[in-house]
Amino acid sequence: MMPIFKCPFPKIITYFYVAQKLKVNIKRIAIFGSTGSIGTQALEVIRANPQWFEVEILTAQTNDDLLVKQALEFKPNAVVIGDEAKYQKVKNALALTETKVFSGEAALEEVADFDTYDMMLAGIVGFAGLKPTLKAVQKGKVIGLANKETLVVAGDIVMQQAAENNATIIPVDSEHSAIFQCLVGEYKNPIEKIILTASGGPFLGKKPNFLVNVKRDHALQHPNWSMGAKISIDSATLMNKGLEMIEAKWLFDLKPEQVQVVIHPQSVIHSMVQFTDGSIKAQMGLPDMKLPIQYAMAFPKRIQNNFPRLDFRKYPVLGFEEPDVKTFRNLALATEALFKGGNVPCVLNAANEIAVWAFLRNRIGFLDMTAIVEKTMQNTAFIEKPTLQEYFDSDAEARNFAASLINL
Ligand code: NAD
Ligand code: MG
Repeated sequence: MMPIFKCPFPKIITYFYVAQKLKVNIKRIAIFGSTGSIGTQALEVIRANPQWFEVEILTAQTNDDLLVKQALEFKPNAVVIGDEAKYQKVKNALALTETKVFSGEAALEEVADFDTYDMMLAGIVGFAGLKPTLKAVQKGKVIGLANKETLVVAGDIVMQQAAENNATIIPVDSEHSAIFQCLVGEYKNPIEKIILTASGGPFLGKKPNFLVNVKRDHALQHPNWSMGAKISIDSATLMNKGLEMIEAKWLFDLKPEQVQVVIHPQSVIHSMVQFTDGSIKAQMGLPDMKLPIQYAMAFPKRIQNNFPRLDFRKYPVLGFEEPDVKTFRNLALATEALFKGGNVPCVLNAANEIAVWAFLRNRIGFLDMTAIVEKTMQNTAFIEKPTLQEYFDSDAEARNFAASLINL
């Protein structure tokens, strides 16, 4: 007997709930990480749909010029510049506007606590996204979640707090958006498994003797998607798919063995759900993150856009293959973390963030990233049911250990 799909989004079944909750037609969006790949694409969606969306909050870590430009165009209530050295510059640039300017890490949680926004678009990269997202969860907000690391690090706590506070998490990651879309209307129907598709990244089919010499700029060239630096490297190593397996487990309340990965180089099928009758639903489209971003922001509506359409005649062959986990060992390590649970995914994520950081600065080679993650996983003590503080501690411990391996 397969587990019944316990819908973690009770609001899917009550189709109008979100609109009712928001009470207004225009959603006020808080974009965390507005200067990044996800953030700028979210602003494109908002720019094209002023009848549906307006900007309430924008946050950025270092790119003050772009943050100011965005604030002058979208006139948010508040902006946060993470880098405190840039606070005065941003404040001066917005002096003639009504936008409030905040700075520093704590300010992210402070603005996430505002009542004035309807939906957070969680587009910060890495562990740094966890605290502000958790704050929005505790406020019972609607959250469009791009920041997968939030669920990789502390998925049990985030999902439990979301249920307790009646927060709605709508995935933005294209695979999880696909699964979410396949599950709309399937409440209480049992899932046999989900099938996450992976492009395979720029080094599909390559072997370790090739990968050992791969340099940063080559690894940043993704064949199908244009994304931020960290996720581009994660896609090249297949760590991204491993993080997505863990993300899917929490989002859709699955057992590890219900999450399967298949390589699909065309990135046209964004992912699939197989139900207990063997029937499979897939969500398809051209690889363009604006689509899942728009879907999450407009949910439960679908709104019109002019994005290029998928033409099947241009894709006479769709391919599928087994991932090569012997070569791309990060996927095997992430699968191990998925099955072990506890603080292991948090440790995997922390070590990976350090390894990717070092690779992007040409401090280590491509294959060294896997070695660092593996050694850090072996070094860190297992905690079966960590508290939030224990997740933070595991993250810090793993970062320090990973950094010591690189002499950072
Ligand atoms: P990015 O590097 O392009 O942008 C990251 C954003 O986060 C920037 O606005 C930056 O200012 C901010 N930021 C960085 N470090 C920060 C810190 N320490 N504190 C606060 N803010 C910080 O990243 P991205 O590609 O847009 O990815 C964002 C998230 O979305 C990641 O978790 C990624 O895995 C996920 N995601 C991205 C894509 C994509 O196509 N880019 C697709 C699926 C999921
Ligand atoms: Mg993805």
